[in-house]
Amino acid sequence: MWIVFLGPPGAGKGTQSKRLVEYLKFPQLSTGEMLRAAKTAGSPLGRLASQYMDGGRLVPDPVVMSIVGERLDQADCARGCLFDGFPRTLGQARALDELLDSRGFKLDLAVELRADEPELVRRMLKRAADERRADDNPSTIAQRMEVYHRQTSPLIHYYQQRGVHVAVDAMRTPEQVFSDIRGCVDRCAGAGAL
Ligand code: AMP
Repeated sequence: MWIVFLGPPGAGKGTQSKRLVEYLKFPQLSTGEMLRAAKTAGSPLGRLASQYMDGGRLVPDPVVMSIVGERLDQADCARGCLFDGFPRTLGQARALDELLDSRGFKLDLAVELRADEPELVRRMLKRAADERRADDNPSTIAQRMEVYHRQTSPLIHYYQQRGVHVAVDAMRTPEQVFSDIRGCVDRCAGAGAL
């Protein structure tokens, strides 16, 4: 089963995809985490990525697609995976479709987490205090919101047209949100996606 998590920064994509990973026993592919690991390792890719990440901008599609393509070639991704924070542009969404198609698969579900902007900002400022993420500061948060609306939100329409989009109200507790997501996944699996 192949699932994409969509939603603005702070909507809970990371938290919810970790829960779903435990439930489905599929790997989670978080481009944000992979890029942060490359940055910490100080690799050339990490140094390139940090120029974009630290300002709240998107890392260029070819860089992102190269790390995703490599990850999908690993054995644990043979039956499916959860994409968290990817795709973030229409170019990445189309490239993902091609990658899956070339492996004989197709995307099963795009789960959009919806939340109001003041709540998202409150969550990110809390995360800044808890996790010390370099890009969770007020000016970068505003930039990431703008990038989401301009570059990533068109994916909602893209996946609606494909008939794989579901929206979940992410303004509730993590348990309530997960319960809805699990319901969507179970219905999708019941329709033969697993
Ligand atoms: P995240 O942890 O998903 O919020 O990602 C943190 C930062 O990493 C983003 O603000 C981007 O700079 C970069 N990033 C993560 N995933 C992608 C992606 N799919 N495409 C481009 N940039 C990304």
